[in-house]
Amino acid sequence: MGEPTITHLQQAAYDAQASAALPTSELAEALFGGSSGTVPVRQAAAYLRAVQATPWFHAAFAGHTGPLEVVGGRGPSRTDTVTRQVKIGTEDRRDPGRCEHACLHELAHIVTNDLGADRELREPVDGPDSSRGHHHAWRVNFVLIVRMALGRQASSRLRREFNEWGLPTFVGEPRRCVSPLTGS
Ligand SMILES: [Zn+2]
Repeated sequence: MGEPTITHLQQAAYDAQASAALPTSELAEALFGGSSGTVPVRQAAAYLRAVQATPWFHAAFAGHTGPLEVVGGRGPSRTDTVTRQVKIGTEDRRDPGRCEHACLHELAHIVTNDLGADRELREPVDGPDSSRGHHHAWRVNFVLIVRMALGRQASSRLRREFNEWGLPTFVGEPRRCVSPLTGS
């Protein structure tokens, strides 16, 4: 079983994040700055613990403050929300900024259920309509996490880039398409 192919919307989510040119926080500089070369997995784990320990994280994501298993390895970063295992891939740990942004991205997966309030999947598992977990609910949480960890300018840029790449975020409830003719 090989790696599944990346869908268009999934790639758009990665591209939007890269285009947002997110800054690196003082916390990440302090935790990762001393290490030259690849940030060790234990430093990434310490960063994730530090973010989970902040008052804003407790307030926003009370059900997700428990310990995570953080691993490294080749290939892309990913998160298993059932086992709470977060992989921050070697490539994503090659510098402090990239490592921080990968940690925040994966943390947004941890706090986002792929099932909606109706217990239905938020999006198809595969195919052109699948963003592979980078759906609206994930984007709203990621934008919030970036705002709290990296500041409002950074989160505004991220939101704008998501929008540019066809992945808009709406504050509050996802906006419904309202037809001006029928009003439905
Ligand atoms: Zn992701």
